Amino acid sequence: MSMNNQGRPTSPKTGAAPDTSTHTGNKALQIEEALIFETGHMSGTGVDLPAPKSKTNRLGGNERVKSFGLPGLSEPEAMRHYVRLSQKNYAIDMGPFPLGSCTMKHNPRLNEKMARLPGLGDIHPLQPVSTVQGALELIDTLAHWLKELTGMPAVAMSPKAGAHGELCGMVAIKSALEARGEAGTRTRVLAPESAHGTNPATAAQCGFKVDTIPADETGRVDLAAFREKLGPDVAGIMVTNPNTCGLFERDIRALADAVHEASGYFYCDGANFNAIMGKARPGDLGIDAMHINLHKTFSTPHGGGGPGSGPTVLSDALAPFAPIPYVVHSSNGFRLVEKREGPASESFGRMTAFHGQMGMFVRALSYMISHGSDGLKQAAEDAVLNANYVLARLKTEMTPAFEGSCMHEALFDDRFLENTGVDTLDFAKAMIDEGYHPMTMYFPLVVHGAMLIEPTESESKRELDKFCDALLALAKAAKAGEADKFKAAPVHAPRRRLDETAAARKPVLRWTPPEGEESSLAAE
Ligand SMILES: *Cc1c(COP(=O)(O)O)cnc(C)c1O
Repeated sequence: MSMNNQGRPTSPKTGAAPDTSTHTGNKALQIEEALIFETGHMSGTGVDLPAPKSKTNRLGGNERVKSFGLPGLSEPEAMRHYVRLSQKNYAIDMGPFPLGSCTMKHNPRLNEKMARLPGLGDIHPLQPVSTVQGALELIDTLAHWLKELTGMPAVAMSPKAGAHGELCGMVAIKSALEARGEAGTRTRVLAPESAHGTNPATAAQCGFKVDTIPADETGRVDLAAFREKLGPDVAGIMVTNPNTCGLFERDIRALADAVHEASGYFYCDGANFNAIMGKARPGDLGIDAMHINLHKTFSTPHGGGGPGSGPTVLSDALAPFAPIPYVVHSSNGFRLVEKREGPASESFGRMTAFHGQMGMFVRALSYMISHGSDGLKQAAEDAVLNANYVLARLKTEMTPAFEGSCMHEALFDDRFLENTGVDTLDFAKAMIDEGYHPMTMYFPLVVHGAMLIEPTESESKRELDKFCDALLALAKAAKAGEADKFKAAPVHAPRRRLDETAAARKPVLRWTPPEGEESSLAAE
């Protein structure tokens, strides 16, 4: 009888493995979920209303000629469908989420409770300002915390994701260059080769040419190569710190000085701020603009495309170009600056319909106030400690990409899998069978077969040990010649290996009725 690592039996007492196929396709209480169109019936409806006694047609000939094409489901049918789908998603509330470059940290329930308070959750951005003074004060207070933590004089609150914050910062840089009359000549943006894909994408979207700076052998920006690339056509640099290799850019002051000397601007990608909050202030490092991913550093559940919030701190040089609207405080209370006039006359305009991601502002401020400045600093220290613990334990069997300690994430390459017949993808799929969501794979691109692990401060030592034990066992199995097991993985997941490229490039997002059923859609 096979046992799990706690000594509990995991398979039947007798004989060979039974046939596991089922009549329904379900596996125990894991339901093989059909599409909602297949569950419901076009002819049905979820409600039973009596036919009206008399009705006068007032549509003036504009009646629908076809049905909506929506399946009719009862409330429990609809409810179950979506609850089951939600259970197919993995979440930080279910187990560790080791993705690197993503900071998947625990979101305390207190934050959820605060975000649901009716005075914050049930208000509307078009309400008269006099009726939402508390909400505006909350935005202003959060802005104050962000400026304090970063040592920066201004912050734009409205960007709705990290990438959106990058756009805010780069448009501000473009506006500053326009004001100097240099937008036409300063067209090149420098970015390290380890940059997150959103950095070059943002620069390109703003019409800049992206020039890649190589990394040195320690995984950091090559300062000499960077200096060589500076010139009168450089608009600025985009650098992540700590960088996407999980390393602190030690030369960051020198980078800032050099780019300023060349009359360019310094955009810092602050997605990894979780590692340095309370420890180092971007304002002291010579940064002109930096987004903060509230959904990474200051809790809030994220993943699967949202929600996000990317307030962007700005230096004195860029602050005049900040987007509207923003909150200001006067003796009459709080109000919104919504027009490009007066002190906002140089603003580059509006990025979003309203004031930003209110629900996340509440969660972030709740997180900050409950931690206090000392608690935030400790969270950063614990996140770095946890990553170094993982690095130290795993390096006995796996190969760290760079020497020395790391910041918030531990980066491995695939040298330990050499000649095993197992590659990074196989290794990640085998982790799924062991009950672990894989780490970030094949990123950053500068490391061959990269595996990037960010445990965050949320995980206990016990949880980290279980995770490391599983990865060490897998690394040993790969080296012991068990490649077949890896190539087949995942064998316990509801779906085996999918064609991920086709899924990303040619997604089938539209349901089409089976042959012959179109007529029933058109009926009624
Ligand atoms: C997550 C991340 C981004 C993008 O942030 P989004 O909120 O996903 O748009 C940019 N840079 C780095 C380094 C990141 O980790």
